[in-house]
Amino acid sequence: MAGIKFDRVSKYFGKMAAIKEVSLEIQDKEFLVLVGPSGCGKSTLLRMIAGLEQMTSGSLYIGGQLVNNLPPKDRNIAIVFQNYALYPHMTAYDNLAFGLKIRGMDKKSIRERVMEAARILDIEPLLGRKPKAMSGGQRQRVAIGRAIVRNPKVFLFDEPLSNLDAKLRGQMRLEIARLHQKLQTTIVYVTHDQVEAMTLGHRIAVIEQGEIQQVDTPQNLYNYPKNRFVAGFIGSPPMNFIEGTIEKEQGVLFFQDQQKAFRATITGRPALEPYAGKAVTLGIRPEHIHTTPVKGGAHYAPLNVSIQLVERLGHESFAFATLQGQSIAARLNAEEEIAPPCTLTLFATLEKMHFFNGQTGAAI
Ligand code: ATP
Repeated sequence: MAGIKFDRVSKYFGKMAAIKEVSLEIQDKEFLVLVGPSGCGKSTLLRMIAGLEQMTSGSLYIGGQLVNNLPPKDRNIAIVFQNYALYPHMTAYDNLAFGLKIRGMDKKSIRERVMEAARILDIEPLLGRKPKAMSGGQRQRVAIGRAIVRNPKVFLFDEPLSNLDAKLRGQMRLEIARLHQKLQTTIVYVTHDQVEAMTLGHRIAVIEQGEIQQVDTPQNLYNYPKNRFVAGFIGSPPMNFIEGTIEKEQGVLFFQDQQKAFRATITGRPALEPYAGKAVTLGIRPEHIHTTPVKGGAHYAPLNVSIQLVERLGHESFAFATLQGQSIAARLNAEEEIAPPCTLTLFATLEKMHFFNGQTGAAI
């Protein structure tokens, strides 16, 4: 078992910087998720841990040991890929046993390890089958089993669930979380799916264009995004953004949108004082916009919107609307009777509003 430390690691492909001066410490036994849009560099980071990709500069430590020049086979790390990478001509048993055989392990020990992994993953009945006679989920379990039998210091997962249908993905997500509880090993898990990231990670590193934007617990990322990118990436449907300025009239601060269609009074936010007269972006999550001003301590700003569409999911609904051309999504109660197209006044909770610097995107 081992922690992992990236110290100012960069990776260039020709002139293109895929990873830019990344520093990140992953604790021993932690479940860390690397998340970000396609091409942001998450697989490259994972492949560097495995030793499958050389770094251009910086240092990488695993279990306190500098591994920059350590070949993959000596790192004691197992990686599970999206495409399973099983040997098609071998049974599940042989797929699990293969890596141990080539390391020269004796038959009895191999059998013990394979049966233990099969028990953990509940795949004993599949051991005699070849991959083509298994479902996607079963194949992925065998692929995970092949990693378990090696008893690695670190598990790496590269989008392991993206070939599965939504229901199976949900099940496998739970299994991977349980597996981590059982094995108590460091896991680094790559996904572009923020739901997977939020449900699995102890901490999540959000990456954009080769740079880490924020590393934090799922709840902190959600509640306290450091910048507009993180705020927009975490949450589904994503946070609504409205461009505007902070204004001050008779000592009272307020947010005014560009189209002059919406205004929100600001109280108890001294950090916004210096922004009077400056451009900011207001962010508000769909669940913090309501059809009625709910009773309680919260204060509201009214949004006069045109509702274009209501998506009904059974337990909740989402309304997709426009505010003078800007898109706004709001989460509604399932029982809410709205028949689009129509106009409606929605109420955005002042206490739940985020503000971002209009130039840099940094949270204020
Ligand atoms: P995805 O979710 O699409 O797999 P990713 O976040 O895992 O994306 P990487 O595969 O790490 O992204 O790639 C990061 C960047 O480096 C991309 O712009 C990609 O095109 C580039 N890249 C990756 N591998 C190579 C390579 N072998 N040669 C040249 N460029 C590469």
